[in-house]
Amino acid sequence: ERFISPQSNNDEERIDRAIRPITLEDYIGQPVVREQMDLFISAAKQRKEALDHTLIFGPPGLGKTTLANIIANEMGVNLRQTSGPVLERPGDLAALLTNLEPNDVLFVDEIHRLSPIVEEVLYPAMEDYQIDIMIGEGPAARSIKLDLEPFTLVGATTRAGSLTSPLRDRFGIVQRLEFYNTKDLSTIVERSAGILNVKLDASGANEVARRSRGTPRIANRLLRRVRDYAEVRFNGEVTAEIARQALDLLDVDNYGFDMLDRKLLLAIIEKFEGGPVGLDNLAAAIGEERGTIEDVLEPYLIQEGFIMRTPRGRVATKRAWLHLGLSPDLTLNG
Ligand code: ADP
Repeated sequence: ERFISPQSNNDEERIDRAIRPITLEDYIGQPVVREQMDLFISAAKQRKEALDHTLIFGPPGLGKTTLANIIANEMGVNLRQTSGPVLERPGDLAALLTNLEPNDVLFVDEIHRLSPIVEEVLYPAMEDYQIDIMIGEGPAARSIKLDLEPFTLVGATTRAGSLTSPLRDRFGIVQRLEFYNTKDLSTIVERSAGILNVKLDASGANEVARRSRGTPRIANRLLRRVRDYAEVRFNGEVTAEIARQALDLLDVDNYGFDMLDRKLLLAIIEKFEGGPVGLDNLAAAIGEERGTIEDVLEPYLIQEGFIMRTPRGRVATKRAWLHLGLSPDLTLNG
């Protein structure tokens, strides 16, 4: 598995539970999201109502699941969790919805992957806290209406564009998570180090933060690997120098890019003369799924100005050439 992959694995889930913030106050960074959610949650609580349905956008590992859990915790309600691809039949969703207690949170991860027939069930559920379910089959089939308790749907998605507009329109609150700056990631790394009993100085935290692709999940993962290195090769304390050595060994470069990032940049430059190249061709060239490129690799490379998305495809910028130690042909690639 890819080292900086923002998806978590099983072993990680366990440690993750220990370091995942559970209150809004411990949710670091994302000041706008935090201030707004604080306000909306306080208001809903004062009125003793369910919070409005909330949609959270952002690349993997930025804190969507964490925020959903915090919402439920701050509201003082239960959280039920599922995901778009898991809900295969309308009955799967109906079963979840009819079991909710008043003002509970239903968290649907990857909500852009809901099947259309399941999505249909969500519309009246979100709008009127009602669902229509079919009883019986064939000519005897009839639909009955069931009342639900008021609830909050929290949907998470990596793709702003893939949601149908009827679904999107039914969310009263929409939050977009941004990549984190180095300062906020340092704070996250320091907080995790405290919980995991890792000795880490400010410069060590900064070095890990700087190479974490703006992503808390990656920052926490790098922290654990750097700790391994510090414990085995040194006395366990993580300094900037030790973090640097460990990250070099792990092939995470100065910008936090790993082999796959560099492979992508190199493919655009060497196989497609710097671009533009379409997503499908690029995916074939590096042997990755287009979804991985779109959701995992590209957002950070675009934000940092290494590639551009143009109507005719992806283009490697001058920065990308220079980063790989190549000299851009400026007459060709602007
Ligand atoms: P997503 O659902 O967007 O993929 P997660 O919510 O699972 O991301 O976040 C990954 C991990 O990163 C969390 O387990 C948590 O430890 C950490 N994390 C995410 N956001 C924050 C934050 N704002 N403050 C501190 N830690 C965070």
